Amino acid sequence: MSRPAVVLDTVLDAVGNTPLIRLDRLAAKHGLKCNLLGKLEYMSAGGSVKDRIAKRMVEVAEKEGKLIPGHSVVIEPTSGNTGIGLAMACAIKGYTVIITLPQKMSLEKEAALRALGAEVVRTPTEAAWDSPESNIGVAARLQREIPGGIILDQYRNINNPLAHELTTGPEIIEAVKNTPSTAQHPSSGKVDVFVAGAGTGGTISGVAKAIKKTHNPDCVVVGTDPVGSVLALPETLNAATGSYIIEGIGYDFVPDVLSREEGLIDSWVKTSDAEAFAAIKELIRSEGMLVGGSCGSALAGAFAWLRTGEGKKIAETEGKNVVVLLPDGIRNYIGKDWFLKMALEAEPSPLAQTIAGI
Ligand code: PMP
Repeated sequence: MSRPAVVLDTVLDAVGNTPLIRLDRLAAKHGLKCNLLGKLEYMSAGGSVKDRIAKRMVEVAEKEGKLIPGHSVVIEPTSGNTGIGLAMACAIKGYTVIITLPQKMSLEKEAALRALGAEVVRTPTEAAWDSPESNIGVAARLQREIPGGIILDQYRNINNPLAHELTTGPEIIEAVKNTPSTAQHPSSGKVDVFVAGAGTGGTISGVAKAIKKTHNPDCVVVGTDPVGSVLALPETLNAATGSYIIEGIGYDFVPDVLSREEGLIDSWVKTSDAEAFAAIKELIRSEGMLVGGSCGSALAGAFAWLRTGEGKKIAETEGKNVVVLLPDGIRNYIGKDWFLKMALEAEPSPLAQTIAGI
């Protein structure tokens, strides 16, 4: 599964194959005895976990004859990362791309999209998913009006969860299986817990399938969902409404590719922006990982789950492997107020005070 030391044909060959890395400092800080492991998706060529589905959706559509060079216009509603993956693939393959992007998504994502040659149409964040003004509604209208317009549709396309069942999941399983148990790092040799946020739900559904079907049927899969979104079960968890800042996770509808009812996702945890920001800061400061917003939600959800009930037992057991999916990097959000505040308005350190006095 590791990337071979050879010359790659295109940047699409550098999608996925991301590292699984110990979060030992955070585990110690939070009193966890289990192995806490982060799957670092910003190491993929386009900078996020969504490169994988973009690549697969484009390649399969080409094979099925649905994409015609010189004619097809790829249109997709996204929170940005799927768009970046699609624009990357289409830059190489020569397809025109239009991305419909809710206003709340970062300027950094829009800039990356435009740099890759995509057109970007901003839509109101507050528009309900099924209204004509939403990014989904606008994409549908553009598809009807633009000759050659095609929506690959990450919300319904089976190649979204399949990309994760065939790549993300197996990479995690192989990494855990290939890492021997040692005195310093005892290991069960299995993925015991998998934690991920859900947007379309493709990542969590596909990885859960790979792990439960081929590796460990007893693995506990934990979904994290922002307060204000409706993806968690039981429904009572979703009582609080409202907006949230973290991008890429949570929705006001349940996408088809999120397998909520099939026993794949065992537990859901709701997370707030404040918890996510605190967890991002910890990941960056303690583990040196330049992760994006939804990584904080996933990690905060993991900590919350590991504090009670079955989670607490696992947290206290040496050798249990708890994998947290970290979807993108901070460079998608570097100009966002929440990040600049975190990075630049910290309490002056003793070192800064010393420097000021020199
Ligand atoms: N985090 C970020 C930053 C994302 O862009 C996405 C995709 N919308 C997700 C998490 C969730 O991934 P999925 O759509 O596979 O549930």
